[in-house]
Amino acid sequence: MTKWVLVCEVCGNERILDVGYNLREFQRVYIYCRRCGENRAHKVVGTLEERGGAAAPPGSAKA
Ligand SMILES: [Zn+2]
Repeated sequence: MTKWVLVCEVCGNERILDVGYNLREFQRVYIYCRRCGENRAHKVVGTLEERGGAAAPPGSAKA
């Protein structure tokens, strides 16, 4: 399984999706955004490993 980092294109909320296929081919996926409260297009940022192995805690400042 690969942990993918996805960012909501509407509100910028970041979330991790743990799936067994390559999301990079999709570029964007429609999944539920908890902040928007409905399904939104999410940009595929990359894998969690590429990001350094840990998800940023919610509400933390973006680098
Ligand atoms: Zn959102």
